[in-house]
Amino acid sequence: MSDIRVRFAPSPTGKVHIGNIRAAIYNWLYARHTGGKFLLRVEDTDLERSTPEAIQVRCDCMKWLGLDYDEDVFYQSRNVKRHLEVVDQLLASGHAYKVERTSRDGKTGIVTMFKMPKDGTIAFDDIVKGHMAKKAEDIQDFAIVRSDGSPIFHIANVVDDIDQKVTHIIRGDDHVENTFKHICIFQALGAPVPKYGHLSMIVNQQGKPYSKRDGAAFVGEYRDQGYLPEALFNYLLLLGWNPGGDREVLTREEMIRLFELEKVHVTAAMFDPKKLQWMNGEYIRRATKETYRANFEAQVKAAGFDLGIFAALKSGLQELLLDQLQIRTKFWNDIPAMVAPFFTDDYPMDEKAVAKRLRKPGVKEILLDLADRFEKLEPFTTAAGEAMVKELSQGQGMGPWVHPIRVAVSGRGEGIGLFEMCEILGKEKTVARLRRAAATL
Ligand code: GLU
Repeated sequence: MSDIRVRFAPSPTGKVHIGNIRAAIYNWLYARHTGGKFLLRVEDTDLERSTPEAIQVRCDCMKWLGLDYDEDVFYQSRNVKRHLEVVDQLLASGHAYKVERTSRDGKTGIVTMFKMPKDGTIAFDDIVKGHMAKKAEDIQDFAIVRSDGSPIFHIANVVDDIDQKVTHIIRGDDHVENTFKHICIFQALGAPVPKYGHLSMIVNQQGKPYSKRDGAAFVGEYRDQGYLPEALFNYLLLLGWNPGGDREVLTREEMIRLFELEKVHVTAAMFDPKKLQWMNGEYIRRATKETYRANFEAQVKAAGFDLGIFAALKSGLQELLLDQLQIRTKFWNDIPAMVAPFFTDDYPMDEKAVAKRLRKPGVKEILLDLADRFEKLEPFTTAAGEAMVKELSQGQGMGPWVHPIRVAVSGRGEGIGLFEMCEILGKEKTVARLRRAAATL
């Protein structure tokens, strides 16, 4: 155990941005790595936008990603009395003052301002960015209580960090300017200043902050698109940190053991959707056979196919099909299209593949010849099918045979091993489909 205490302090308005959840991931890993505590603070002072639904969305995303928190959730809106007590303290000690202000809509009211020190330098050693400093005179006094009496972010955020005994504040570098102000508040209150680590932005291919204009920017979208939480977690972790060497896919235990905040990159991290897709496939490939089978069955059922057809396969063939699919699946919801030819004779024919592989002179004859040969093949196995076509090709490459067979029996230009597919379909179906395709040419 250590006395390190970090927190994720989202303002629950709208959806959860991937940059925001990456901050949660880094805080969580830092706490788990150091044996400290990971706290959740809901900064819900914007009561109009911080609806119970918006808060629930955050909790659901955290649960989905396995970001469990310690202690009870801390709601900022429930600490307002304390925020205002601290403001009174600052007024009494001369670190704050009241002033009449006219707001944009022309109304005048009294606001409370924090009085910045007028000389000296505000400095801190950022765990990620290194030494940071700014002249106090370059920062103006700033409001901490609105004219309606409600506390403003700066005071609420600092008081809550004091009350939650937060030792390390790990947050996005859009908060760097706030941090200079916040340090002055901690000092004015005689409270220990936490350590800071500011995380660089996630940027698009052009180096601009990654937003919904660039693609899916919210955690829920990835969940809905069939991404695995473990893959998204791993990918977001690598956006700004890596364990060294060329290892990229890590177990949760390895992440916890290896994560070091000091090694988080200073430069902005570029979001690469292709790499995230690859990562998802990696996780599916590494899933246990039981997990794969369960997802396969769920997808097959959801697509309306009859699982009985699969259950009727000889047991060796069930495993063969699952193994063949598992190494090629990038998303769980790719499965229905991949397996359609096993469940129905009415599978869609990919027009491009048909044009490229079937509508060519000589293919009709090849298909009919193959149908005759397959019909006589005994036993009808992967090895026997392959040996037969190899012999036909006489060492010239099996392409002219295998491509037409694949499109004829599955409607697609790609998929699991061809001869494995024929064996799983069985002789009767394979032969019938070769003849059916030939008849269309
Ligand atoms: N609610 C703030 C945000 O989401 C908190 C920042 C922080 O101190 O972590 O940006």
